[in-house]
Amino acid sequence: NLPKKLDNMLHIWSEFNMLSLKYNALNLAHGTPGIDAPPFLIENMVKAVREGNNQYTAVQGHPELREALSKFYSPRFKPAINRDLDPNTEILVTVGASSALNNAIVNLVDHGEEILTFEPFYPNYMSITKLGRGKFRTIPLKTSPTEDGSALNFEYDWDTFEESLGPQTKVVLLTNPHNPTGKCLRKEEIERITELLEEKAPQAYVISDDVYDFLTYDQDYEMFANVGDNWKKTITIYSGGKLMNCTGWKVGFLIAPPDLTREAALMHESSIFNLNVPGQVAIARSLDLLNQPFEGYNSYPEYVRSTFAKSKDDMVDIFMNSGIPFTPTVCEGGYFVLLDASAARSLIPDQFLTPGNYEDDKDTLVIQREFKNKVPLDYAFARWFCINKGITIMPGSSFCIEKEKDMIDNFIRVAICKPESIVQQTRQILSQ
Ligand code: PMP
Ligand code: GLN
Repeated sequence: NLPKKLDNMLHIWSEFNMLSLKYNALNLAHGTPGIDAPPFLIENMVKAVREGNNQYTAVQGHPELREALSKFYSPRFKPAINRDLDPNTEILVTVGASSALNNAIVNLVDHGEEILTFEPFYPNYMSITKLGRGKFRTIPLKTSPTEDGSALNFEYDWDTFEESLGPQTKVVLLTNPHNPTGKCLRKEEIERITELLEEKAPQAYVISDDVYDFLTYDQDYEMFANVGDNWKKTITIYSGGKLMNCTGWKVGFLIAPPDLTREAALMHESSIFNLNVPGQVAIARSLDLLNQPFEGYNSYPEYVRSTFAKSKDDMVDIFMNSGIPFTPTVCEGGYFVLLDASAARSLIPDQFLTPGNYEDDKDTLVIQREFKNKVPLDYAFARWFCINKGITIMPGSSFCIEKEKDMIDNFIRVAICKPESIVQQTRQILSQ
């Protein structure tokens, strides 16, 4: 009689990681950066531990980190507030961006109130909304070919967005750059969202999940909070793990006006209370160092961005020349690129496409999937690719709610947050 609040929701991460391990495959499914944390961060961590930063600190986060975050992030919030961020009232340190999302969402939504996001979406949004007893509503993005027809773009469906907004809308949840599509918000798109919100749902808050802010490829990173009066209703979320390639430390940040920060902090105090104190101190002391030259680049984030930008282009090239007919999508930012695999259906043996054929893999099937009539192409492709080609990727429909899965069940997600060595390994495997 266990409660089944989260049944069938997040297991997809475990499932494909387990499958990858079982078949000893190269894991391009999970978004783990293939570059490690910079040496100065590691040094600062060792020092922080040795200096005795090993006990609880302030609930809102270590004071040194909040000061350093104010210094680091204030310049970019200047258009909105024209002053520095207050480290005591406008910044909350969280257990990764994940717990910032949890603190913000669970506290904001009440029974039946709606969280609206674009689809596909980062799956944790749906499970957190469910835990908060909110109603999760999505607006599918539309695909269209690029001008030269060589790739696909994801675009907003403004009419549906407008129709979906109303007094029931409590939160609009944005991801910028987007996981899994890699789409970046343009200034005009932020202005359009802002106008529609003012017209149709002026009471709504906005959560902008900007964990890939420093990873835009040939695009500027535009902030939702900086347009018009948006600051007053916006919670912006960042991830120290992503910024400094220490995802396992789970240190994230939430920046918002004092009333919203306070609410999130209450949730944080009631559930988590404190987190990884030496990690907070190490990150605090390393934020300044991010702007120093690194490995021939102007800064550490610039080094990471250039490495992943090259990996993105190379990975797309490798997959396109693998003999499997893919259509790429345009990735403007973040850790992932989506590829349309619909033309590859004939390559996948029937056993992968027929329901009830995963008996041998019971141990990797975290969800006992009941594909009654058909196995979606992306899911069959992901399993076939892992078992027969030795590379694990993520089925695109894992980023959709059940009824919209068809919109994207031809797509696979490939992690491009990798260094040259992994790119070479991928090339080698796919050229065999
Ligand atoms: N938001 C998005 C869009 C993500 O891709 C991730 C993946 N890690 C997170 C939030 C969670 O970040 P963190 O590891 O800092 O909790
Ligand atoms: N953001 C990463 C991804 O999308 C990691 C997700 C996770 O750890 N649950 O793969």
